[in-house]
Amino acid sequence: MTFAALGLIDPLLEALELSGYAQPTPVQAQAVPAVLAGRDLLAAAQTGTGKTAAFALPLLQRLSGEPPAEPGRVRVLVLVPTRELAEQVLQSFQVYGQFLILRSYAAYGGVPLNPQITALGRGVEILVATPGRLLDLHRQGALSLAAVTTLVLDEADRMLDLGFARELEEVFAALPRQRQTLLFSATFSDEIRAMAGQLLRDPLKIEVAPRNSAARTVKQWLVPVDKKKKPALFCHLLKQKRWGQVLVFVKTRKGVEQLVTTLLERGVKADSIHGDKPQASRLRALEAFKAGAVQVLVATDVAARGLDIDDLPQVVNFDLPQVPEDYVHRIGRTGRAGASGEAVSLVCADEVTLLAAIEALIGRTLERQEMHGFEPEHRVPLTGSAAKPVQKPSPGRRAGAGGRRGGKPVSSKWEGFDAVIPRRSGTPRGKGRGR
Ligand code: AMP
Repeated sequence: MTFAALGLIDPLLEALELSGYAQPTPVQAQAVPAVLAGRDLLAAAQTGTGKTAAFALPLLQRLSGEPPAEPGRVRVLVLVPTRELAEQVLQSFQVYGQFLILRSYAAYGGVPLNPQITALGRGVEILVATPGRLLDLHRQGALSLAAVTTLVLDEADRMLDLGFARELEEVFAALPRQRQTLLFSATFSDEIRAMAGQLLRDPLKIEVAPRNSAARTVKQWLVPVDKKKKPALFCHLLKQKRWGQVLVFVKTRKGVEQLVTTLLERGVKADSIHGDKPQASRLRALEAFKAGAVQVLVATDVAARGLDIDDLPQVVNFDLPQVPEDYVHRIGRTGRAGASGEAVSLVCADEVTLLAAIEALIGRTLERQEMHGFEPEHRVPLTGSAAKPVQKPSPGRRAGAGGRRGGKPVSSKWEGFDAVIPRRSGTPRGKGRGR
């Protein structure tokens, strides 16, 4: 399969060649012709599958044949959960559309409103925005959504996780009813299904394997440790295992800063990404990490979501995530494109319920390795088949948080998804992964 066979025009093919893309990824092969034909889309695909190009390429092509947006108007609206993702998606549109004359712009919070008001006042064909800032701009009359022909919801599940449900409803209400809608989500909760039911008309349903379900090359293990010894253990592992670049996930912003301070004191080049930092310094930290100038990037889940960091060999869960699905997103950053990766979790006794929920979700018990000198005083109870007491569901347990839904063990998050979206015969699960 080639990009030309998908019906893409020369200016896009040229840009793809310059980007070094030899052939479409599975999500692109399925989505591009459907989006070109004007169909709605419901796609299970996360970062790393090539999902951005899957919607950007056909939308650029369609826009190139249409009149430009009038002042204050937008033709394609892409909603994303975070500022970082907004920048990444904008960059993709600009790279793929470099030989087309189209205006694209990203609007997100944490930066001044005025330049955004000015830019939108001229009109843009493509607007990538986070829901909160988009509404601010809309309420101020900085733009009209009346001319939007396509709405893209990128990482829809994450937008709901971040509490954007009300904002999204308000945006939907301001959009023309007659339009194309493309919904991308990594997971499919009842809320996402309801949203899809409300927004989409006869959508093409696409499922591509999440990167990490295909990336069996990611080695996952955990070290039981007392909470207070986690910083020392991390420094020990960094040195002893001779890790190169590491992406570390910490639960709180304060925890992120504390770990960065500890690392800097020990001469390790470290930086952070979290919601309290201004946008510019978050992007700077990310760029420095990508360029190799920073060895350890410490982040919270929200801030790190959607970051496209290629070929990262090492992810460390300094704290386990509160939402089990975030574990899957975190480790999905390693082992890309067949590269081998490793995901290590530092687990203290308090986190055993979270651990059990993660193991139930991924359908396996993580291997434990105690580290000499860091054996915990507060033992981390055994989980999995060896652990009757922890695995027993308690009556008041929240569905999902304990790894059980509807009383049945959840072995894979894709089970729930298959119930709505039948797997297509040509795309078996675990195969055909993007990069
Ligand atoms: P995404 O899933 O959209 O975040 O894309 C993940 C990464 O894959 C990005 O770095 C893209 O530049 C890259 N990519 C997307 N499509 C292709 C392709 N067809 N061939 C090679 N790389 C691609």
